[in-house]
Amino acid sequence: MASLGVPRNTIEILKKYNIKFQKKFGQNFLIDTHVLDKIINAAGITENDFVLEIGPGIGTMTQYLCENAREVMAVEIDKKLIPVLSETLSEYNNVTVVNKDILKMDINKIAEERNGGRAIKVAANLPYYITTPVIMGILESHVPLENITVMVQKEVAQRMQAGPGTKDYGALSLAVQYYSDAEIIANVPANCFMPRPNVDSAVIKLCCHSKPCVNVNDEKFMFKIIRASFNQRRKTLQNGIANDGSIQAGKEQAAEALRQMGLSETIRGEVLSLKQFAEFSNILGDILKR
Ligand code: SAM
Repeated sequence: MASLGVPRNTIEILKKYNIKFQKKFGQNFLIDTHVLDKIINAAGITENDFVLEIGPGIGTMTQYLCENAREVMAVEIDKKLIPVLSETLSEYNNVTVVNKDILKMDINKIAEERNGGRAIKVAANLPYYITTPVIMGILESHVPLENITVMVQKEVAQRMQAGPGTKDYGALSLAVQYYSDAEIIANVPANCFMPRPNVDSAVIKLCCHSKPCVNVNDEKFMFKIIRASFNQRRKTLQNGIANDGSIQAGKEQAAEALRQMGLSETIRGEVLSLKQFAEFSNILGDILKR
């Protein structure tokens, strides 16, 4: 089967199977061999790897993954694409196509059964309507992971990589950076896809930490604080916390934690680093236990 990274081969398959792009599934197929090479190289895929691909579409990236990995599992929600994948991946005996919704799958179980519980790699040109739930779902479920290398909307990639004090910095940046080091690998214009999306895209690589990079007593509590800070971005951290019903802390307790850290009581959450959020949540947690 010829490479689907070449547009005319993709067009031939689309015609043969009379494929109508399903907007509800975020179907924008990649048609650029350079971008595909960049994703495979960035993910560092070798013959030792088990790779989970989310949304193979007609199998364009899957072909590249099969060429380089030991084993590939490709999870596709659209049942109409399953016969197409049987043809486009017919040359490979190291791929399993699963017709399911990735959000309903137990990825820990897949890593255990297919890779003996060792770290897996995840690669995808993600459907943009579920980017955040897919990435956060995988990270939060503590699946053993080496890296996640994915195409996402450019603005989302920028938010994942952003640091304190920038306009893109927020709860998503902190959540992603708690579990991984994020690096934008390439910006990808709309003409690399068929059909063209209305937004620009970027490939981002998340190199996953084997253990968290900061010391937190209660992860859930820290993320409540982070969410409260960014829900009311222009408010001070202590006001954000006092106004949030899910955190049982008042302004004075938040102020005391800030004093202990040597920070101003009027500081906004948006300038705190992940390490500072961790320290703040540990101190505030101790104050609340008194
Ligand atoms: N990987 C292909 C490529 O690069 O050309 C297709 C990428 S397209 C942006 C996203 C793919 O994800 C589509 O094939 C779509 O049907 C599939 N998809 C959408 N939602 C999904 C879900 N919840 N679970 C699994 N696959 C999904």
